[in-house]
Amino acid sequence: MKLSLIVPCYNEEQALPIFYREVTAVLRTLACEYELLLVNDGSQDGTLALMKSLAQSDEHVIYLSFSRNFGKEAAMYAGFCNATGDYVAVMDADMQDPPSLLPKMLDILSTGEYDSVATRRVDRTGEPPLRSWFAKQFYRLINRISDADIVSGARDFRLMKRDMVDAIVAMSEYNRFSKGIFGWVGFRTCWLPYENVERVAGETKWSFWKLFKYAIDGIINFSQTPLSIASWSGIAMTAFSFIMLCFIVVRKLIFGDPVAGWASTICVIVFIGGLQMFFLGIIGQYLSKTYLETKHRPHFIVSETNGGSIKKIK
Ligand code: UDP
Ligand code: MG
Repeated sequence: MKLSLIVPCYNEEQALPIFYREVTAVLRTLACEYELLLVNDGSQDGTLALMKSLAQSDEHVIYLSFSRNFGKEAAMYAGFCNATGDYVAVMDADMQDPPSLLPKMLDILSTGEYDSVATRRVDRTGEPPLRSWFAKQFYRLINRISDADIVSGARDFRLMKRDMVDAIVAMSEYNRFSKGIFGWVGFRTCWLPYENVERVAGETKWSFWKLFKYAIDGIINFSQTPLSIASWSGIAMTAFSFIMLCFIVVRKLIFGDPVAGWASTICVIVFIGGLQMFFLGIIGQYLSKTYLETKHRPHFIVSETNGGSIKKIK
């Protein structure tokens, strides 16, 4: 039996040595073969050099280095495409995903009752309150409007069996939202709650704006509800304006009112105009996703690696 650990790294020269030390200590205690797939996501610091030296001293280390920053989703996908283990896990390089959980996760999988063990944070200590609030609202919203089951506080840290990994690799969409993909493929998942751990070194790569855009991506990738809101509002507004029309015609016939209400007319025109632009924007968002999907661009481009069989482009 073999375990593959996928570690996406972007500017992690400070955290990676600590992570490597801790994780190998745990992996050595396991009674199975393992490989450490380090994915360098176009770091600008010494991450790649570090990976190279780790690979030299440890045959378990396989690194693949992207030609530029493709994002964590692409890095994880590259890992999934290249992992050869029967069990595959994804872990952050910053120790926020405690390696000490790995033996427990393996035990749970080996009972055969589950296909995957996933982790979720039960608290968000050390995170700005506004960010936590937005995160909470996001999970409420997306679970209401999409059919992928997305668990609040879920991390990308999970251990999966080969079948599930193959299913994930088969989902080759360009716009990737892993939290949704994991839920969408199904399989029996066991949830392990744990308390939030702050990163050991370096800084988070996610600004508030980046997270916000990621959330919007998630919604667009896993829900068509915004599109139906557009159509339903259109229908509602048409119905409303028809009723108004009847009202005005009848009033004119009975009372013969002269024309009045320039201000209200302008307000209505501006309101409708705004609404139309808004919904056009929503349709545009879906169109732009479709546009990117139809181009079939590679998810990542590997410029350097020490693994002979690594898929360089996918
Ligand atoms: N990461 C990556 N590419 C990116 C951004 C992040 O590979 O463009 C990696 C990063 O090196 C880390 C993991 O994704 O191993 C999680 O990133 P981070 O800790 O910054 O996110 P947070 O834990 O704050 O959500
Ligand atoms: Mg982190």
